[in-house]
Amino acid sequence: MQDSNFIKYKIWVDEAGRWPWLWSVVACALAFNPGNMPDKELLSQINDSKKLTEKKREMLFEKLIEYSTWENPSLFFWVWVVDNYVIDEINIKQANREAMRRALLELSRKIDFSNLNWVFIDGNDNYKFDILEKPPIFIIEWDSKVVEIWAASIIAKVFRDKLTSQYALLYPDLWLENHKGYGTKKHSEYLSDKSKVTWIHRLSYKPVKKVLESKPKLLLHICCWPDATVPIMDLKNNYEIICFWYDPNIQPKKEYDKRLKEFIKVCEIEKVEYIVWEYDFKNFFERIKWFENTPEKWEKCTHCYDMRLERSALEARKLGIKYWTSTLNTSPHKDLEKMFSLWDKWSINPSPLTHLPESEGNKLSKKLDFLKIAFRKNGGFKRSVEYTTKHKIYRQNYCGCIYSDTFPWKKNNKKSWFSW
Ligand code: SF4
Repeated sequence: MQDSNFIKYKIWVDEAGRWPWLWSVVACALAFNPGNMPDKELLSQINDSKKLTEKKREMLFEKLIEYSTWENPSLFFWVWVVDNYVIDEINIKQANREAMRRALLELSRKIDFSNLNWVFIDGNDNYKFDILEKPPIFIIEWDSKVVEIWAASIIAKVFRDKLTSQYALLYPDLWLENHKGYGTKKHSEYLSDKSKVTWIHRLSYKPVKKVLESKPKLLLHICCWPDATVPIMDLKNNYEIICFWYDPNIQPKKEYDKRLKEFIKVCEIEKVEYIVWEYDFKNFFERIKWFENTPEKWEKCTHCYDMRLERSALEARKLGIKYWTSTLNTSPHKDLEKMFSLWDKWSINPSPLTHLPESEGNKLSKKLDFLKIAFRKNGGFKRSVEYTTKHKIYRQNYCGCIYSDTFPWKKNNKKSWFSW
């Protein structure tokens, strides 16, 4: 719509959403009508949007819109939105320029640009626009003094905030209503891993990029160091590994200590974090009760795997780690299918079958993702032997408990394992 009363006018441009980590940048190009200026009462209320409360900003936004819709409007404006995909593609500075260019272009369809006096833009980006005959004037400190810039800023900000509030409904955990996407502590806490990055995040922004490039944590239950070498080497590239030692099945204590010492030594060499759980061997004997004399890989071993996996799953839940797995499936002496079925049991949310009391947090309702990787495949067992030989790592010659098929005491009846 052309305005015949419009003689010489100035256009004022401001933006909102340059700094937030998500969603669009919004620009507003605005011109007051010199032939029908807004009344003094409205002008006296307009202030720097940062100094206004949200409620006051919204009230002024409504009024500015109302004044722009009169038959002889007091102001003309246009808003343009450039989304996060474009921001990631061309960078925020260029996206901001594009939002301003389109807002100016659309405003030129409402008012006659041949009568244009000057275009003033908040900031010091020195953009150039082919739709303007004269280059715009960039104002740096005026924004604390110019009512037109404040008005453009109120419109851009409230417009953006209103749309952001709609996204807040989609992502309640993000608390968007409190920070509108700015880099707050709350927003950082929300971005705990890749899965939290939404389609409205600006992927090119450093904090979001950092999360995308970060490796997810993985709790790796270690049954013994020789079996752990290949899993650690293979998983290290894609996960931040935390090794978890829970093996009260190992007897005697001297042997347990020896294996534990090797575990710690290699964790330190490999620079991986580790956790050592207590040696509650009574729990082990309780869990395999009545099955002690079954052969290896049979019932006693099922209960033994089960005990260690249950504790590992609980630890993963307590630490808030989604991914977990175990080195139990490296050795060719273990029943892989049996272990996979147990892992499924402990990964569900939470397992109804747990032996652990509620006080140990077994009600923590986090769905875990177990990595079903057969580490023994592709020469895994052979690679682990090579690694332990190279680094002079102790390799045990029996599984762990006194009922192991190859436990030394079984071979030599004269020697009791208690005297070991
Ligand atoms: S043989 Fe090994 S897996 Fe089986 S119960 Fe003993 S320690 Fe556990």
